[in-house]
This record gives sequence, structure tokens and C-alpha cells, in this order.
Amino acid sequence: MFALVNLSYLTAAVFFILGIKGMTKPKTAVRGNQLSAIGMLIAVTAALLHHDIIGFTTIIAGILLGSSIGALLAKRTAMTSMPELVASLNGVGGGASLAVAGSTWLTAIAANSVVTGVWSAAILASIVIGAITLSGSVVAVLKLKGTIGDSKRARQWQLITAASLVGILACASMMFGEGQLSSLVLLAIVGLCLLLGVGLVQPIGGADMPVVVALLNAYSGLAGAATGFVLENQGLIITGSLVGASGLILTAVMCKAMNRSLPNVLFGGAFGPQADTQSKSNDSEFYDGKVKYATPDDLALLLDGARSVVMVPGYGLAVAQAQHAVKELANQLEARGAKVSYAIHPVAGRMPGHMNVLLAEAEIPYDQLKDMDTINPELPQADVAIVLGANDVVNPAAAEDPNSPIFGMPILDVHKAKTVVNVKRSLSPGFAGIPNSLFIRDNSLMVKGDAKEVLQATTSAIKEL
Ligand code: NDP
Repeated sequence: MFALVNLSYLTAAVFFILGIKGMTKPKTAVRGNQLSAIGMLIAVTAALLHHDIIGFTTIIAGILLGSSIGALLAKRTAMTSMPELVASLNGVGGGASLAVAGSTWLTAIAANSVVTGVWSAAILASIVIGAITLSGSVVAVLKLKGTIGDSKRARQWQLITAASLVGILACASMMFGEGQLSSLVLLAIVGLCLLLGVGLVQPIGGADMPVVVALLNAYSGLAGAATGFVLENQGLIITGSLVGASGLILTAVMCKAMNRSLPNVLFGGAFGPQADTQSKSNDSEFYDGKVKYATPDDLALLLDGARSVVMVPGYGLAVAQAQHAVKELANQLEARGAKVSYAIHPVAGRMPGHMNVLLAEAEIPYDQLKDMDTINPELPQADVAIVLGANDVVNPAAAEDPNSPIFGMPILDVHKAKTVVNVKRSLSPGFAGIPNSLFIRDNSLMVKGDAKEVLQATTSAIKEL
């Protein structure tokens, strides 16, 4: 039976790897998801066949409870709140590892087990990474929700982080030095790790959150892998390692997308609104009389003569749920012989791949979605670039103003298009909280309003031309 269970875990791992490979391209993403789901079914069945697990009544109760909460969350969570959901799930993963390793520790105390070797190191790793992931994710969720702002006391938090780290090392050396597990040391380690998680995430600036969420995802995987060693469960070791490795790769991709190094994100202090507290108060002066406004009718006229149009979706498109409206306008333009593409910035929206998911919902053909490196050289030839609720990812200050807090972050070069039209409700800033010089460029127009309403009005106007 043991060999069969392990063979099943191996088969599941092959499905997971094929699934992840499928998810690297939008075209094969659905199949990738299905393959991963089959892998998970095989892994769960194998775990149930394992003879030394808890009773089926508890398992069924757990499945029912977990599935109900999951279904409720999935139904109630708006697309714009997905990052909070992902961050919460990372926290739940870390918390589960912490709970399993903590209870194993307590069982070992009761059995008078001696602290030795890989197994004890795995328990420690599972508790440490699990607790950091749990409290770090809670802080990340609260930051994404805007419940807590960015800390202006980065230095103090860094001191707390350093002190917790020293405390954890002291507890670990006590544990291995004495060769004994104690519930007091367990309590101290859990407390210090929870504090460390808060201390690591709290000073990180709002605009760096994509990197932090990806990193916490990697942590939850690594905690799971360590728990696999604790439980001697090969399936969990493989799955946790896959999540950990893919999370680390995603972290690296997000860092590259924002032109930041990981140590810079983690220890470099704030990157975002808090770094530029003056800018908000100077917004009205910044824009005063320099923004040229247009109406949906003007936009329709402009688009009527355009041969090449680039749609630039951002967080506002998700808020407005304007994905179908943008497709409808694109259909009209294509029927008039224009070429329409969609420019996708890697951190547009509020989670990795946010725009891809949104546009896929409206069945926009994948080959029209162009990533930043592909679309940027094409933008100077575009007749019109329509920025739909995007702000930070098109802010030329990132390329031109060394004093800007987002300086260095790669952007979509929409300001190089012949005409750029910004569709948003006001002159409010984006996530990074800074003014956008794009709105006052010579080739820039603003159509004020909700993205969906503006797109629908433009489509109606163009139909009448
Ligand atoms: P931004 O947050 O910079 O800007 C969004 C804009 O949308 C706002 O300026 C807002 O202006 C506008 N908007 C909001 N609602 C509507 C609506 N109904 N209709 C039209 N416009 C609307 O978004 P970007 O996508 O450009 O940039 C993403 C930012 O989020 C980056 O700073 C990134 O670092 C950060 N981030 C990204 C994550 C990721 O994983 N992708 C995760 C966390 C943060 P107004 O209110 O005037 O309408």
C-alpha cells in the first residue's frame, strides 16, 4: 500500500508540473488548471488511502467546513478584492503548517521525544515559516484593504524584526542545545515568529505589495514542504516545494517588473505614497489648467479615423467591470478596419495577471494581448492609446523624474502614441498616490467618467458616425 501511495503522489506531481506549464500561456491555462485539479484529486485520494491518518468522520467534516467557507469566499469576493483573497489564502496555508507542526511538537513532548536530526529541524522550519506567513499575510491583507496605512516608522520595525530574529535563534539553539522540546520554547518561538511576520511586512510600501504577496505565497509553499518532512508525507513535500519554487520565481518576475531588488523591497523602506507625502497636497497646482478634456463624442470622432488603437487596461477597468464594454468598442473599431491591441503591464491592477484574467472573461483573443516589452516599441506608431483606469503603470515620471517615488519602475510608453486618451473619473492618483504627468502632456486628452459608461457612450457615438 505504501508503495502505491507514493507512486500516486509521484503521478500527482507530474500532473502538477504539467498543470503549471499549461498555466504559463493564456491559451493553455484552462487545460493547465484541469491537469492540476486531476493531480490534486490523485493526491487527496492517495492521502485518504494512507492508513495512519485520522478518522474519516473528521476528514469529511473538515472537507465540508473548508469547502463551504471556500465556496462562500469565492462567491462573495469581487474581482477587485482578489489580491486580498490570495493573501488571505497564503496566510491560511502558513497557519495550517503552523498548526500541524505545533501539534506534532506537543505530541512529541508528551512522548518524551529527543530533539535530533532533520525531523526536528523540519518542525522548527514549519513553525517559523508558517507563523511568519500567517502574521505577514494578515498585515498584507489589511494593507491591501487600506485598513492600515504605510508605516512611517520603518527603522523601528526593522529593529523589532532584528530583535525577533535574535530571539528565534536563541530559542532554536536552546531547543537543540538541551535536546529537549518544551512547550514554553514553542510558545516563545511562535510569538516571536508572529512578531517577525508583522515586522517584515509592515514597513513595506503599498506599491511594493505585489512582490510581498508573491513572496508570502512562496513562504506558504515552503512551510508546506517543511510540514511534509514533519509528517513524512512525500506528496506534501513535492507540492510544497512546487508552490515555494513557483512563488519565488513569481517574486523575481514581479521585482523585475518593478525594477526593484528583493532586499531593496524587504529592507529598503517605503516605495509608494509615504515616500512622497508632499505630492498629494500639490496635485491641484500640478494639474491647474493644464489638462485638456474631451467627451465620448470627441473620442468617437478621433477613433473613427484611427488605423491602430492600443487599449491600456488598469485597476479602474476592473472597478468599472468594463471588460465587455471595451470588447464591444474594439469590435466596432475592427469592423472599420482598425487594428486593436491590449497593452498589459505586469503589475497593472491589484494582482499578478489581473488584466489577463479580466480580459479573458470578455473572451478577448489572447493574441491581441501584448506584454510591455512587445507593445512599447509599437506605441510610437499607434494612432490612439486609450488608458482605461490605469495610472501608475503609465506615469512617465517613472522614467523621467529621478525624484519620483516610482522612478525606475518600467512603464507602458503610452505618452509616445500619437494621441493618448485617459479615461478615469477624476484627477485622483493611483495606488502609489502620486500625480501623473501623462495627463498634462501635449498629446494627451482626458475623458472624465466611469470606464464602462465612457466606453459604452463612445461605442454608441461611433455607431452613429
Ligand atoms: P492605479 O491604482 O495606479 O490607478 C487606477 C486608476 O483607476 C485610478 O487613478 C482611478 O482614478 C481609476 N479608476 C478607479 N475606478 C474607476 C472607474 N470606475 N472608471 C475609471 N477609472 C477608475 O492602477 P494601475 O493599474 O495603473 O497600477 C497598479 C498599481 O497597483 C501599481 O502601483 C502597482 O504597484 C499596485 N499594485 C499592484 C498589484 C499587482 O499584483 N498587480 C498588487 C498591489 C498593488 P479615479 O479615481 O480618478 O477614477
